[in-house]
Amino acid sequence: MSITPITGQDTLQKFIFDNAAVRGEFIDISATWREVLSRHAYPAPVKKLLGEMVAAAALLSANLKFNGSIIMQIHGDGPVRLLVVECDAELHLRATAKIDPEAVIADDAKLPALLNAHGKGRFIITLDPADKMPGQQPYQGIVPLDGDDVGTVIENYMLRSEQLDTKLWLAADDNVSRGLLLQKLPYNGGKTEAAPLTEDEALETWNRAVILGSTLKEEELLSTTIDVLMQRLFWEETIRVFDPLHPAFHCTCTREKVGNMLKMLGRAEVDSVLEEQGHVGVNCDFCGQHYDYDKVDCAQLFATDAPVEALISAGEVKH
Ligand SMILES: [Zn+2]
Repeated sequence: MSITPITGQDTLQKFIFDNAAVRGEFIDISATWREVLSRHAYPAPVKKLLGEMVAAAALLSANLKFNGSIIMQIHGDGPVRLLVVECDAELHLRATAKIDPEAVIADDAKLPALLNAHGKGRFIITLDPADKMPGQQPYQGIVPLDGDDVGTVIENYMLRSEQLDTKLWLAADDNVSRGLLLQKLPYNGGKTEAAPLTEDEALETWNRAVILGSTLKEEELLSTTIDVLMQRLFWEETIRVFDPLHPAFHCTCTREKVGNMLKMLGRAEVDSVLEEQGHVGVNCDFCGQHYDYDKVDCAQLFATDAPVEALISAGEVKH
C-alpha cells in the first residue's frame, strides 16, 4: 500500500463557464501514471490506452456526486483481454492490464485491433458505494465497445447511458497522462438572474467550448502543462476555477482480501497448489505486492467461518 508523495503531485482542475452552461476539468495525472507503469511492462500501444483510461477514470470520478469507487473496464476479445482502472472518491487510483501472453502487438496497434478484434469488446463502468447497505449490489453499466479510441468509447457511453453530452481529449505515453473533459450542463434558464441565458445561448456556449477543446492536439496535450493549456484554450471565456484536487496512486490490496480470494477459489485448488509448491504465492495484479501463504496460513483461512467478500480482482495464484 503506498500513496504517491507530494513531489510531482498530480492535479485535477475543475472549472465552470460563468454562465453555467458548461463544466470542465483538466487533469495532469502523470505522477500517478508513472507509479502504475513502474509496476508493469506494457507494449507502447497498451500504455497509451491504459494511460488514457487512467486520466478518464479520474475525470469521471471527480464529476460524480458519489461516495465510492468507480471501476472502469474494457474487456477485449483481441490480444488485450482487459484494461481496468479503479478510482475512489478521494481520487486514489490503481490500474492494470491483462494481455494474451502469446500475442504479438504491433507498435502502431489501435484500440479496435487490440480490444475489439471480433466485435465482442465490452466497456463496463461499475459504481461501488463506499457504505453499502447489506445485500446492496454495485451499479454496473455494460455496453458494446463503440468507438476507435478511449475518449470516443466513453463519450458514447455517457450519451447513451447517462444522457450527458460529454467530450474528452486524452493523451498518454511513457511519462505523461493528461486530459480535458467538457460536459454540457442541463439547461436551467441560465444562472445569472439579471441576464438569464436563452436555451440557444447555452447551446452556443457548449458548441464554442467544444470547438475550443477540439483545437487541442495530442502532441500539445502531452507536452504542455494544464495551466498553460487552460489559458491558451479559454482565455476569451469567463471561467470560474475551483480549488485543485490531487489524484494519487493507491492500491487497496490487503492480506485479508487476498485470503478471501483464496477462500473463493476453494479448498481443493488451494490444497493442490500447496501440495505442488509447499506454499501459495499471490501477486497483486495492480501493485505487484507479493502475498505468501504456508500450510498453517491456509488451514487458518478455511478454519474460520467469516463471510467471503466479493472481490473485483485481487490477483491470481502463481503456479
Ligand atoms: Zn495491490
